[in-house]
Amino acid sequence: MDNEMEYGSDYKYIPATSVGSGMGMEVSHDLYCHTIQIVNIILVGNPRTKDFVLVDAGMPNSADNIISIVEERFGKNSRPKAIILTHGHFDHVGAIIDLVKHWQIPVYAHELEMPFLTGQKSYPEPDPTVEGGMVAKMSPMFPNEPINLGDKVEALPSDGAIPHLPDFRWIHTPGHSPGHVSLFRDEDKALIVGDAFVTVKQDSLYKVLTQEQEINGPPRYLTTDWKAAKESVIRLEALKPSVAITGHGLPMTGDLLSESLEKLVQEFERIAIPDYGKYVDGDFH
Ligand SMILES: [Zn+2]
Ligand SMILES: [Zn+2]
Repeated sequence: MDNEMEYGSDYKYIPATSVGSGMGMEVSHDLYCHTIQIVNIILVGNPRTKDFVLVDAGMPNSADNIISIVEERFGKNSRPKAIILTHGHFDHVGAIIDLVKHWQIPVYAHELEMPFLTGQKSYPEPDPTVEGGMVAKMSPMFPNEPINLGDKVEALPSDGAIPHLPDFRWIHTPGHSPGHVSLFRDEDKALIVGDAFVTVKQDSLYKVLTQEQEINGPPRYLTTDWKAAKESVIRLEALKPSVAITGHGLPMTGDLLSESLEKLVQEFERIAIPDYGKYVDGDFH
């Protein structure tokens, strides 16, 4: 029921942007990535079939923008079959209630992410003291109260299948959040990462000033379990993806991706884990 749904009590527009904002990129014929301010949404499906899903739901107040992006690619009044969430952080569910009301479609997320999506549990407070520059410093303004999607959100099937996305399977990649998932297609080794790792510098999540890419671990100020985060990156590297579409930063492909991922696994402590911060476990240093 629509009237059950509500955003968290601290929901608000976040005035952050990047040079990439508004840019769309066709990664392959059926994978399209578009940047909403600082975060990516992904449309999976061939534009000629109208059979597609949306992965993640952008920033607060971006619903009209997302609907236009969808209609531009798939045609007037087209709508995805479902929204699949990599996780429930504010920058991945920002427009979701407006979208669900507009399209009347279901949302799927990992079972362990459900408390954060059904109004039961808040994410831990972002850590503004963590090593990581300006973004970490402004993180206390980020919404972290739980959104309530009521009965519109359903748990992903436990066998790895993704409704409406038969070629992909979900992979549990916790660490950044408990029920974080990444989506993988074995056929072409395409990987939709979420925030398990990103391709921008931590400090400049908000200002991708150049096209330059740099692999990094999950965004630091919201990552609470670094041991799990490392294991998740190891799991994703082992898949040897050919392309990685991350929640933040430009898609990465080919040798740059494989070399960067290998390096991230080898040097996870140095590259990803902050030197200080309240969720950093002393064992890593
Ligand atoms: Zn996140
Ligand atoms: Zn994010």
